[in-house]
Amino acid sequence: MLEDYFLKLGEKKFKAIQVFEWLYIHNAYNIDDFSNIKKDVKEKLKKDFNTDFIKLELVLEEDDTKKFLFRLLDGEKIEAVLMKHNYGLSVCVSSQVGCNMGCRFCESGRLKKVRNLETYEIVEQILLIQKYINKKINSVVLMGIGEPFDNYDNIIKFIKIINDAKGLAIGARHITVSTCGLVPKIKEFSELDLQVNLAISLHAATNEVRNKIMPVNKVYSIEAIIDVLREYIAKTNRRVTIEYVMLNMVNDRKEDAINLVNLLKGMNVYVNLIPYNETKNIGFRKSDKEKINEFYNILNSKGINVTVRREFGSNIKAACGQLRSESD
Ligand code: SAH
Repeated sequence: MLEDYFLKLGEKKFKAIQVFEWLYIHNAYNIDDFSNIKKDVKEKLKKDFNTDFIKLELVLEEDDTKKFLFRLLDGEKIEAVLMKHNYGLSVCVSSQVGCNMGCRFCESGRLKKVRNLETYEIVEQILLIQKYINKKINSVVLMGIGEPFDNYDNIIKFIKIINDAKGLAIGARHITVSTCGLVPKIKEFSELDLQVNLAISLHAATNEVRNKIMPVNKVYSIEAIIDVLREYIAKTNRRVTIEYVMLNMVNDRKEDAINLVNLLKGMNVYVNLIPYNETKNIGFRKSDKEKINEFYNILNSKGINVTVRREFGSNIKAACGQLRSESD
């Protein structure tokens, strides 16, 4: 811990708080600017810590959405998306370079995982965006490139840093982690009692359909996911978000909606229907608006909480992994 580091140097432990204030309140990323830290301590900090930031390489804008491409110190690329909502600014961050989950409709999965992101690389996506727009971020979703629960330890550290009152002070209820359904990690996560939101990329109501679009389903079936979600809800008393990307003729039929109702009936969940963001490398097509409405109405009429996600930045390749895969 940073406090122990300062104590070892013979300094007071509140110096750690001052460093946090420079980083997270004053947006100062150069140790030379930390004016309340002594010169010799600054030199020591420079030696002991990596002070090179990831680099903001490209920003694309469309309406209320900005897409950021970052270059990491080893040359790899990741992306994050900033969205303006009526309740404030939210950022969608990446958790890995590439992804091994292989969801057939997803651009990130096409590229395979290169490596996990370090905690600082996830935090810096937010810091650099805040600096760029000169405004504070209100909410964060772990829905960019990567499977957060395949980089579990680092994303937990990340959540603790951004949630810390001395860090970015983003309320736990304004932080959402999204997973394709790694059951043991969902269990572990429920034991932490972090009060952050959990979203599950379900995308299908039967194993038959889910197996076709999400290879991870062969390891953790729909039944296993529902079981662990029941446990999670009982333990945390929190509502879970079910993400459901609407793919034309794949999972958007009337019977899919009815199967979904039967699967989720009575659970403390809410379903977010996601219009698919088409990408030129992948053959899936988005469901048309009528189909989405029909699906919505079936769920709604059967008492399932449901919303349709607003479409963000389809022209700037805002779906996860699209920008990274088309640049070099
Ligand atoms: N690996 C995590 C988080 C990253 S993806 C997960 O699977 O939840 C965030 C969400 O976007 C997931 O629900 C994912 O299935 C969905 N998604 C991926 N590609 C998409 C696309 N082209 N259009 C719409 N949603 C997409």
